[in-house]
Amino acid sequence: MLKVQNLEFTYPKSNKKAVNGVSFEIKKGEIFGFLGPNGAGKTTTQKVIIGLLKDYHGVVEILGKNLLSWKTDLYNRIGVGFELPNHYQKLTALENLELFASFYRRRTIPPLKLLQMVELEEDANQRVGTFSKGMKSKLNFARSLLNDPEVLFLDEPTTGLDPVGRRLIKNLIIQKRNEGKAIFLTTHNMQDADELCDRVGFIVEGRLVLIESPKELKIKHGKKIVKLEYIKDGGLESQEFDLKNLADNKSFLSLLKTGSVQTIHTEEATLEDIFIKATGRHL
Ligand code: ATP
Repeated sequence: MLKVQNLEFTYPKSNKKAVNGVSFEIKKGEIFGFLGPNGAGKTTTQKVIIGLLKDYHGVVEILGKNLLSWKTDLYNRIGVGFELPNHYQKLTALENLELFASFYRRRTIPPLKLLQMVELEEDANQRVGTFSKGMKSKLNFARSLLNDPEVLFLDEPTTGLDPVGRRLIKNLIIQKRNEGKAIFLTTHNMQDADELCDRVGFIVEGRLVLIESPKELKIKHGKKIVKLEYIKDGGLESQEFDLKNLADNKSFLSLLKTGSVQTIHTEEATLEDIFIKATGRHL
């Protein structure tokens, strides 16, 4: 669905490459997370791919065709949810979606259906200027789906949302993946990335330094131990055991049999730990 090879981009009047040799691909039904600190080149990469920045080096293929051969018809087939929602404040949510729907030369999803999907149906006729941050974020997400895009670019899609709203949007993203869409997700939120992404790419100073599935990364970088917390003499104590041969570990088994165990966890590394280890940088 999307293939990027050796992408390089330098802004006019800048002497530094904002994107410096980035290569990755996204398949049908895959969520690819693009993670990196501020200024790493995430937005620039996305802007090149969606045709907003020209004069790049390298090859971008989208929906089986070189980006350079696409005309405006590309916009009928991709969806973009920019990080900062840009709606018409004096129009209602419904009017905003109707307006944007009118730009497409392809059948669009009925705006009311999208508003229901993001649980904004009761606010459909309210002016967007009166919306909260979270409501704007939901509307922004709904707008990116208007043309039922095959490739979806989402920049921080859960910004400003409460836990219930975040869950809703995350479930919708997973639903879109299951429908076979290819999703390019830019985020600083490691928990979102971990939950949603099939693979993540770490970008630092314009270079992609690592691409892996979050699960593989955590297995590779995690400690191979199990930590148990248990009650002893009225207080909480903890003990760690080697994951290897755990089933034959007598002290582990006897601790389990005491019935005093309160929690049991493998010591997985978080994506954030791995990012710092791989890049030497904080997000
Ligand atoms: P963030 O997490 O803050 O959104 P990002 O990873 O999206 O960051 P980019 O916006 O792609 O980073 O910026 C990459 C580099 O390009 C930075 O050094 C930035 O200063 C520079 N840059 C971005 N936009 C422009 C511009 N319009 N003109 C010149 N330089 C720019």
